[in-house]
Amino acid sequence: QAKAEGGSCLRIFEPAMNDRLRTRRALVADLRVAMARQELTILFQPQVSTATRRIKGAEALLRWHHPTRGVIGPDVFIPLAEETGLIVPIGAWVLEEACHVARRWGGLSLAVNVSAHQVRQASFVDTVERALARSGLPARCLELEITEAAMLANSAETLGILSRLRSLGVRLAMDDFGTGYSSLATLQRFRFDKIKVDRSFVRHLVHDARAVALLRAVIALGSALDVTTNAEGVEDEGQLSLLQAEGCDEAQGYLFGRPMSAADFEAQLGTRNSSAA
Ligand code: C2E
Ligand code: MG
Ligand code: MG
Ligand code: MG
Repeated sequence: QAKAEGGSCLRIFEPAMNDRLRTRRALVADLRVAMARQELTILFQPQVSTATRRIKGAEALLRWHHPTRGVIGPDVFIPLAEETGLIVPIGAWVLEEACHVARRWGGLSLAVNVSAHQVRQASFVDTVERALARSGLPARCLELEITEAAMLANSAETLGILSRLRSLGVRLAMDDFGTGYSSLATLQRFRFDKIKVDRSFVRHLVHDARAVALLRAVIALGSALDVTTNAEGVEDEGQLSLLQAEGCDEAQGYLFGRPMSAADFEAQLGTRNSSAA
């Protein structure tokens, strides 16, 4: 139909679009077999107490080692996994695998990202229970990070799933707070345990008074609602001092460690948490 109306621009546009579609289709086909071929790996990024710098736990972050395209980040393949439904088996695998690893950490917390698509599945609570039972990780050590919390809280069914998760003893964090997927209205409707302040607010902290004002407001909100606050994307000491001064509970970012293998994370635990006060 578009072709029939098409002018000259269509001839230029079409090949590029076909290319994108072809790439997308190829990636989806590869993603279907990626789990079986053990191309997915989980990295762990430390989450620290801002006051003491001690490691309180880690966030699991997925990577895809594609046989020809190299390492592909979750920003590229998670949306494809969501569109195709592959996020359900992939997400179940991440949960169980990461819980197994975190079982060795002696009570530290493990944060796992979950998509709205996963939480909408009626079977999601069973998936979480199974991962905990098989790994032996206590429920209080597991925290689920939800980005599109705002969309979930609009439906009574998913609110029900969220509260069943909380009654298991699992904690819930609202990821990317301030970006629109995670909103104030949602906090009114549902009790979250943690707010993760999006990296975009942390980036400008040191030089921008408006960024500081926004951060201060979010921390005040967290403390009024008795919700833990975590700042994402902390890259330098200046940002950390500000977060300490404002009373943000936790921080995460390249300053403390990039996402790393389980072995590297455990080595850091050994040195950092045993020496620090
Ligand atoms: P997110 O949960 O908000 O994770 C934080 C992202 O910021 C990660 O990107 C992390 O590597 C990056 N980051 C951490 N510290 C810094 C810093 O100091 N500076 C900068 N510039 N970046 C930092 P990553 O690993 O590419 O993950 C992107 C997103 O993909 C995540 O955002 C999360 O929403 C999603 N994701 C990752 N793993 C999974 C998963 O297993 N399941 C689902 N459903 N989503 C996942
Ligand atoms: Mg996250
Ligand atoms: Mg985030
Ligand atoms: Mg994100």
